[in-house]
Formats: sequence, C-alpha cells, structure tokens
Amino acid sequence: MQKTLYSLIELQEVDTRLDELMEERGDLPLIVDELQAKLDVKNGELKRRKEELKSSKVRQRELELLLDELKEKLAKYEEQLYQVKTNKEYDAITTETDSVKETQTESEKELLAITEKLSELDNTINELDSEVSKLKDELEENKAELQTTLSATAEEENLLRQERDIVIKRSSPEIIKSYELVRKARGGQGIARITGNNCGGCFSFIPPQKVVEVKKMKKIYTCEYCGRILVWDEVNS
Ligand SMILES: [Zn+2]
Repeated sequence: MQKTLYSLIELQEVDTRLDELMEERGDLPLIVDELQAKLDVKNGELKRRKEELKSSKVRQRELELLLDELKEKLAKYEEQLYQVKTNKEYDAITTETDSVKETQTESEKELLAITEKLSELDNTINELDSEVSKLKDELEENKAELQTTLSATAEEENLLRQERDIVIKRSSPEIIKSYELVRKARGGQGIARITGNNCGGCFSFIPPQKVVEVKKMKKIYTCEYCGRILVWDEVNS
C-alpha cells in the first residue's frame, strides 16, 4: 500500500504538470475546432448555393431558347393568317396563337424571376466567398499558433504520458479510479498532503489519530470534507 500511495504522489505530480501544459495551450485547440466547424458549415452552404446557381442558369438558358422558339412560331402564324382561305383555318390559327402567347407570358414571368434569383445568388455567393476566406485566414493563424505551442511542449508531454502509464500500471485500478474521480471534482487535485493537522487540499482539521494513521502510509484514508486521498510526504509537507 505504501508503494501505491507513493505512486499516487508521483502520479499527481505528473498530472499537475500535464495540466499546466494544457493550460499553456489555453483555448487554442477549442478555437481551432470551432473555426473548423464554422468553416465546414459555410463551405457547405457555399457549395449548395453554387449548385443552385448552376441549375438556375441552365433553366435560364432553357427559357431563353423556348422564348425564341415561341417568337418564331408566332411570326409564322402571323404570316399564315394572311394566307388563310376559310374561317375554320383562321380560327385554328388564332387558337394556336393564343395558346403560344399564354406560354410566352408564363415563360417570361419565370425568366424574370430566375434573373432576379440569379442576381441574389450572385450576391450571396460573393458574401459567402469572403466569409469563407476570412475564416480560412483566421483558422490558419490559430493553427500556426497552436502548432508552435504544441511543438514547444510535445516532447515533455510525451515523457509525462509515458511516466503516467508506468505509474498507473503498477497501481491498482480501483485506487486510480477513485483518484481520477476526486481529481476531476477537485480542480485537478486527487491527493492532499497532510500539513500539521490539516488536509493540504481543503485545510480542514484532521483528528490527530487519523494523522498518525495517514503518516504510516499503510492504508488509504480520504479527507472527510473534500474526499482527497490523504498522503504523508515528509519532504514536501
Ligand atoms: Zn480535504
């Protein structure tokens, strides 16, 4: 048990240093993730808008061709009207002309709407383009900054993580688990050194008999108030 408790002291030192390293990186990893997510959303929207623009342009072209065709048809009917010989023929051509004119009106309306939509899409795409390039710049800047911090601390982090694995392997999983739980709940401190008659974590009073027991380092004792695992560390207490 003594070994386990000393391992916990070592583990706490490693974890505290790792916390410091993570702190140095600050919000950068989070900022980078958030910027990347924003950029993905904007890029998705940009892609959809560009597809919309493409299909609208195709429809615009179709309508233009259709309108040309209708115009030709109407001209042809007009010519034919001069050559009709019977009322029946005349009526037939007039009916055709009306129907073509109706299609023409509808198509012109649609073309107008599409033209308006195209100009709106152009604006939207321009805006999105500039937002995307702004986000890209921002992301690159933060990525570079993060990379600098990472490369300055990566080696130390690796060593610490290796040491952590070694310490954890020689301790019992249950003790590590309770250490992790308290550590999480208590701002990174899973163990507390006894200082005088107090818990070094929350400074609450510890009965002398318990202090004597803790100093033996033979059993796991926790602070009644903060739940930290109590240790006796002659050098640092
Ligand atoms: Zn305490």
